[in-house]
Amino acid sequence: MKASHAHLVTLKEAPADAEIVSQKLMIRAGMIRRIAAGIYSWLPLGLRSLRKVEAIVREEMNRAGAVEVLLPVVQPAELWQESGRWEHYGPELLRFKDRHERDFVLGPTHEEVITDLVRRDLKSYRQLPRHFYQIQTKFRDEIRPRFGVMRAREFIMKDGYSFHADFTDLEREYRNMYDTYTRIFTRLGLKFRAVAADTGSIGGTGSHEFHVIADTGEDDIAYCPASSYAANVELAEALPPPGPRPEPREPLVKVHTPGVKTIADLVDFLHIPIERTVKAIVVEGEDGAPVLLLLRGDHELNEIKAQKLPGIKNPLTFADEAAIRATFGAGPGSLGPIGFPGRIIADRTVAKMADFVIGANEDEHHYTGANLGRDFPEPEVADLRNVVAGDPSPDGKGTLEICRGIEVGHIFQLRTKYSEAMHCTFLDAEGRERPMEMGCYGIGVSRILGAAIEQNHDERGILWPAAIAPFEVVICPIGAAKSPMVAEAAEAIYRDCLAAGLDVVLDDRNERPGAMFADWELVGVPWRVVVSERGLAAGRYEVQHRREREARTLPIGEVVAELA
Ligand code: ATP
Ligand code: MG
Ligand code: MG
Ligand code: MG
Repeated sequence: MKASHAHLVTLKEAPADAEIVSQKLMIRAGMIRRIAAGIYSWLPLGLRSLRKVEAIVREEMNRAGAVEVLLPVVQPAELWQESGRWEHYGPELLRFKDRHERDFVLGPTHEEVITDLVRRDLKSYRQLPRHFYQIQTKFRDEIRPRFGVMRAREFIMKDGYSFHADFTDLEREYRNMYDTYTRIFTRLGLKFRAVAADTGSIGGTGSHEFHVIADTGEDDIAYCPASSYAANVELAEALPPPGPRPEPREPLVKVHTPGVKTIADLVDFLHIPIERTVKAIVVEGEDGAPVLLLLRGDHELNEIKAQKLPGIKNPLTFADEAAIRATFGAGPGSLGPIGFPGRIIADRTVAKMADFVIGANEDEHHYTGANLGRDFPEPEVADLRNVVAGDPSPDGKGTLEICRGIEVGHIFQLRTKYSEAMHCTFLDAEGRERPMEMGCYGIGVSRILGAAIEQNHDERGILWPAAIAPFEVVICPIGAAKSPMVAEAAEAIYRDCLAAGLDVVLDDRNERPGAMFADWELVGVPWRVVVSERGLAAGRYEVQHRREREARTLPIGEVVAELA
């Protein structure tokens, strides 16, 4: 691209109401323009970076097995009434009427629309799983739009929705997305952290957020450097209020189990099959405290998670990992992350995922169909609200540090919240009608650009990670207006860069060097190549990376290889 066509409109000063550095720099660099509170136009430079983020997200989502769709921004109120969110979403949901007085909303998220699509088109377990995603405009009437594209009202999101025949498969996809998000944010060149999170107005059980670490972030993250523990401190604040619980699927049944003291005894006694499902058993942990073990498998046990549990008096005992393997028939090497005795690797949501729980509060008796919360107290949740650096980590592995984070991604296990409310069902292998298990996965595509700048800037402007810079290389000719030799040489190296597949811009505006350099430093193009008469005479061009203090001179023939 030639700079004369690029619509380069840089500003010396940021508008007075711009609050944070990314917002100031995106406006000054000519990437975005505000048109109303929280509503922006994307100028060509900004759009180039936005498209690069989209391309990486799209590539990784496709690689992960998801398939792209494009859903409508305008959605009929009926769908939101069916899911119950017409009542519960609040004023962030922009509602309006069409000319026939019918109610509509501008989509802040698309669970209803996709669930409606799937319930019409998918009927059998043979068609599952499916994962649909889109990259599209969302509208949320944020109470305080601010920080430019970071908290906008109109913004671009990647949202994906997966549908499964059972929970084990949802968990597989959830892990697939966790890994995919990790790859995406790594490729984008961001410093980030995955944290346990609340599910907010989207709902569901398990959830993780991905945060870009930056002082201007709006969230506080508590993490333990000695372990993998990390949580958004709002997690504890948003615990579900006490009140009537959903009806459990199975009644609590007390079983007389004489002589049953170990898991092996119980398995023999009850003939517990490990199928494509999750079972939970309460056992005695290392320190004598009861531990909830989740046993997950696909015909054989392939993962165990453990969580401490209060309120159980006579947990079963187990010997060791080998004994559990032997008991449940897991083949060598097939156990996933395993951490017992007594190690906690799950958060509170794990306890709610089990199809059934077996516990024992009396000698010689056990329960099947136990429901946590109804029959036993739920595990305590670490209250992180007033946590300060140096407090003990809830996992007991060390002390906590606190940092600020910008939420750029969020994954949820929705389970059957939407599929039950909206009757999105399928026929399983036995011909039974069952609600689909659902997951949903969001990435703040436009927010990522602001977050990247918060992490990567200096006093002169933006320091783009190479993957999302509007251009990778800028060619700056000095005095080209008066020197046909310089103009031609600049054209030549520009063409060489293009041929080498570099995303290059040639500054053909005939600006003075000072103004030209200042513009590109503000815009944050990673590589600058200066073509001058002096350089040509010496057979060398000046090459400088935006993060380097000094320019280097390279033989002209070596420049492209250095950049590629
Ligand atoms: P926040 O806590 O910042 O309000 P959220 O939890 O409401 O975000 P989600 O419903 O999880 O957002 O949406 C998925 C992603 O969309 C978020 O992780 C975030 O990156 C992005 N996002 C949400 N709201 C906005 C917004 N107002 N402007 C830009 N991006 C947003
Ligand atoms: Mg929000
Ligand atoms: Mg949030
Ligand atoms: Mg969120």
